[in-house]
Amino acid sequence: MSSKPILTSGIRPTGEIHLGNYYGALNNLVELQQSYEAYFFIVDIHSLTTHPNPEHLSRNVLEVARNYLAAGLDPEQSTFYTQSSIAAEICELHTYLSMVMPLGDLMRCPTFKEKAKRHPDNVNYGLVGYPVLMTADILIHKGRIVPVGEDQLVHLEIARTIVRRFNQLYGEVFPEPQPVEENAVRIPSLNAQGKMSKSDQADSYISMGDEPDAVRQKIRRAFSDPTRAYKHQPGNPTKEGCNVYHLHSYFTDPAKLAETAYKCRRAEIGCAECKTVLAESILSLVEPFQTKRAGLADDYVLEVLRHGGRKAKESAGKVIAEVREAIGLRMF
Ligand code: ATP
Ligand code: MG
Repeated sequence: MSSKPILTSGIRPTGEIHLGNYYGALNNLVELQQSYEAYFFIVDIHSLTTHPNPEHLSRNVLEVARNYLAAGLDPEQSTFYTQSSIAAEICELHTYLSMVMPLGDLMRCPTFKEKAKRHPDNVNYGLVGYPVLMTADILIHKGRIVPVGEDQLVHLEIARTIVRRFNQLYGEVFPEPQPVEENAVRIPSLNAQGKMSKSDQADSYISMGDEPDAVRQKIRRAFSDPTRAYKHQPGNPTKEGCNVYHLHSYFTDPAKLAETAYKCRRAEIGCAECKTVLAESILSLVEPFQTKRAGLADDYVLEVLRHGGRKAKESAGKVIAEVREAIGLRMF
């Protein structure tokens, strides 16, 4: 048994990922697996609130697994599985937890209210209970540490409330999970409109599956310094002044970046040259990722998920037995 704290983190089964997801989310999880006993799971059951096409769902799960493995998730060090491989345990725990969670708090949850407002024709029961299912994902392994973005903090607060109420009724069964800040890095969109997002149009983000020529073309069209109209004008290479410089700051090595910025400030190079440097920096990240991903055979990925599913089931089974005992359910 590892003595490291237990960390749990759910991954949405969204097949296509962009540079922002890679740099802000995948990379971060890969780093966390060094410091914690990590359980990473693809939340395929959660995704059913929006009724994905069954074929897309099963294909996406594999794609997501492949992406995380290519980014460096180590299935020996961490437990990597699909939520549905412990469906029985998760759904059982979810039911028990739902009995201690007040409905009013769930209906006041801002993420629920926002989804209900955006899709008034699909306000399903699962949507209201989403944070309870998320709590089951954490508690099924007695997770203590949960990486969360700002928008997820309220869900973690619900998880903590559930733990307190459950423990009050049945004794100290669960630890109260604590948030660990997600990497605060936000990769900007190519059109300088906020962060890179896959729900924006395709030319505003670099997909980790883009061909080299597509990457170069997108960067050529990226928004740069709006005040620099001509090449002979000195540029303003700062994060605030130039979106291309902002992107450079994440992907170009410091010496190269300093040289490029120096030349830009003296109008020795124009935006086109600067963007060529950026495109090559990004490709030096994207290309090895693509090569690694292409080398992961379906059979290997499936075997990783099966292996992770078995490990997760063993851990989940122990917790479920303890929970039944605590609440006085006798299995005949
Ligand atoms: P959507 O537009 O559908 O919300 P998205 O592009 O924002 O998609 P998500 O699936 O919401 O991506 O996020 C997956 C993970 O990637 C989250 O951990 C999120 O914080 C992170 N992430 C998303 N966009 C960026 C970005 N531009 N920079 C850094 N991290 C990001
Ligand atoms: Mg998002």
